[in-house]
Amino acid sequence: MSFERVVLIGLGLLGGSIGLAMREALPGTVTIGYDADPATRARAQQRGLTQSVVESAAEAVVGADLVILCVPVGAMASVAAEIAPALREDAIISDVGSAKGTVARALAAALPGHQIIPAHPVAGTERSGPDAGFAELFRRRWCILTPGPEVDPASLARLSALWEALGARVEVMDADHHDLVLAVTSHIPHLIAYTIVGTASDLEQVTESEVIKYSAGGFRDFTRIAASDPTMWRDVFLANRGAVLEMLGRFTEDLTALQRAIRNGDGDALFDLFTRTRAIRRQVIEQGQDDARPDFGRSDH
Ligand code: NAP
Repeated sequence: MSFERVVLIGLGLLGGSIGLAMREALPGTVTIGYDADPATRARAQQRGLTQSVVESAAEAVVGADLVILCVPVGAMASVAAEIAPALREDAIISDVGSAKGTVARALAAALPGHQIIPAHPVAGTERSGPDAGFAELFRRRWCILTPGPEVDPASLARLSALWEALGARVEVMDADHHDLVLAVTSHIPHLIAYTIVGTASDLEQVTESEVIKYSAGGFRDFTRIAASDPTMWRDVFLANRGAVLEMLGRFTEDLTALQRAIRNGDGDALFDLFTRTRAIRRQVIEQGQDDARPDFGRSDH
């Protein structure tokens, strides 16, 4: 059932974390890594992110029974084309991209006849690169698998078992539904963070030093998200354009309603919304998706 030879293409936060988690949880599995950046390959070798690091994607996948693409969403199609001629016929192909519909279609077009099981571990940090990965990243986090109808149950079970071994909980979902859900839980929040941090830094009446100095009032929590990798997030918004625009329309309407409540002095409307949102926060903590300690467990106040 388990995999014998697993290849990770892209050795940044996600690829590195999978490699380190596999080293702990599945020491019997051979892991091979490749990254387009020679400096990343060298660092990956030093950190032991995979057992070996090779010089090309095609070389990496020879003989592999599982290949996981851990590159930015916009690079998935070209990597798939690179590895296609060297893949074993029965190799399972997966990825970790944050948008699924476009990636699933790109992989299916580039790799006909293969079992393709797109995946999105809903776990991450604002850090990127070969030093960012850590073995515990996926513990108690969800990993969403979006297999097409051609995928056989045995392949799906094998990949699910791998993610569970890394500490994740697995959910299977349609790729387009994934994109809608993640638009609201991840992509729009990132867009809001990028906007508010951009707006604050553009303000003329408030100096940049004041923005930084008084950031503990809430702003700093947005800066963490807004520090996320620019390449990754550019690709996510381009790949998930439809769902993001749909959710952004809903968000804009709700924002306008809030604006009206403030203008009209409608305290009840504000209070009702803030009460509902507080309950959501309680559920996030109860379901183990965040730290219950005040201020996200920061110790600096
Ligand atoms: P990352 O730390 O920047 O790692 C990506 C790595 O892939 C980089 O080393 C990059 O090299 C390399 N790469 C780019 N194009 C390549 C190519 N054509 N061939 C081989 N390697 C290539 O990014 P990450 O955070 O691990 O994200 C990887 C994927 O995971 C993305 O699809 C992202 O949407 C998804 N994801 C991210 C998070 C998160 O929180 N970060 C969470 C869940 C899923 P260069 O730096 O030289 O370009």
